[in-house]
Amino acid sequence: MPHATPPAPAPRRTADRPVYVIGAGPGGLAAARSLRAAGIRAVVLERSTDIAASWRRHYERLRLHSPRRLAALPGLRMPRRSGRRVSPGDMVRYLEKYADHHDLEIVTGVEVDRVDRAPDDSGWLLHATGGRVLAASAVVVATGRHRTPRLPGWEGQEEFHGELLHSSGYREAAPYRDREVLVVGAGGSGAGIAADLAAAGADKVRLAVRTPPHLLRRSLLGVPVQRAGVLCRRLPVPLVDRLAAVLVRLSVPNLTEYGLARPPRGLATRARQGAAPVLDPGLIRAVRKRRVEPVAAVESFDGGKVLLADGTLLAPEVLIAATGYRPGLEELLGHLGVLDAHGLPTARGGRSPANAPGLFFTGYTAPLGGTLREIGRESRKIAKAIRRHL
Ligand SMILES: Cc1cc2nc3c(=O)[nH]c(=O)nc-3n(C[C@H](O)[C@H](O)[C@H](O)COP(=O)(O)OP(=O)(O)OC[C@H]3O[C@@H](n4cnc5c(N)ncnc54)[C@H](O)[C@@H]3O)c2cc1C
Repeated sequence: MPHATPPAPAPRRTADRPVYVIGAGPGGLAAARSLRAAGIRAVVLERSTDIAASWRRHYERLRLHSPRRLAALPGLRMPRRSGRRVSPGDMVRYLEKYADHHDLEIVTGVEVDRVDRAPDDSGWLLHATGGRVLAASAVVVATGRHRTPRLPGWEGQEEFHGELLHSSGYREAAPYRDREVLVVGAGGSGAGIAADLAAAGADKVRLAVRTPPHLLRRSLLGVPVQRAGVLCRRLPVPLVDRLAAVLVRLSVPNLTEYGLARPPRGLATRARQGAAPVLDPGLIRAVRKRRVEPVAAVESFDGGKVLLADGTLLAPEVLIAATGYRPGLEELLGHLGVLDAHGLPTARGGRSPANAPGLFFTGYTAPLGGTLREIGRESRKIAKAIRRHL
């Protein structure tokens, strides 16, 4: 994987300029590989010192919810030794091998701060670290849905006496052994961290839940749930909601008596709204063994304590806010009119926003089959579209 300084601004003809790919996560690497396979020069710019930066930060005991085959990117299998439940470390090794195997052109340590149209409308200009301005024939934005941790900013939070961190800062359970921890948010990260803390012997683990998640087993009758998600892609949402409700009742115990009610809306409906189902990381068992106690949502802080929606006051030693992420694309390209009200791109995959031809996006959806699988599909569509565009 060559690590060089970025090439100087290219000649004016669009076809002579490379395609710049912003971000060397799975999305950027897959896009670069598909472009290369289509005979188009692609240069990946990565702000961190290494590729696969997000996977280097995940906590050690995390396991991908995607099965190995659905996590692999186009053009390279994930090795069998990664096992059925792939670890972040194996994902990093796979991505490093992927970049080498496809001989991708990657420049690390370069952050793109802003994307602008070239003045003659012949392409794009990228403003990057150190005042560099790079001319691109087309741009693929692959900075990830989880770029910026989202912290609610609760009223009175600054008076909290304990330790407060976002889930992105959680690495392992050891520092929290024998401590009282409140995990806020029952999405994939919150459920996983609560189960991890309970397994590793935190003194008391509570999980603050606003909307109960759709908890699913990792596989149903031997079929990985994400495969079932792929099969359901083209079915009407209300039908998938009904099918999922039946499967959940058959395979997941009702945890209402433990404080975790069944979710109010259908699984596919909520997935459409961006709330992916949670593939059980051990939470069901931990809740039933009363090692994790579900409690009401956090409302605010009062006198240094945490005030829950049901009026309970808690004084945990640690609060881990598993309150999600934002794509954080506003600074980069908010001025281009290509983002919707949620800060997500108005087009993705092989389509550019109508007002921004040559600007492509990958990795900004979370379908039931998993983002990684979608990234592979999008990379091929992007390569085809860029070939047409050039
Ligand atoms: C805890 C957790 C578990 C997950 N498990 C799964 C799973 O099992 N299956 C699945 O399909 N998905 C999973 N996901 C979603 C996962 O994030 C994506 O599938 C995958 O990492 C997305 O790849 P990406 O390239 O779009 O984004 P990322 O992996 O986030 O990569 C984006 C890259 O862009 C770089 N970057 C950002 N901004 C700039 C900039 N301005 N200039 C230059 N570089 C920049 C970042 O440093 C990073 O390297 C999980 C997410 C989390 C948080």
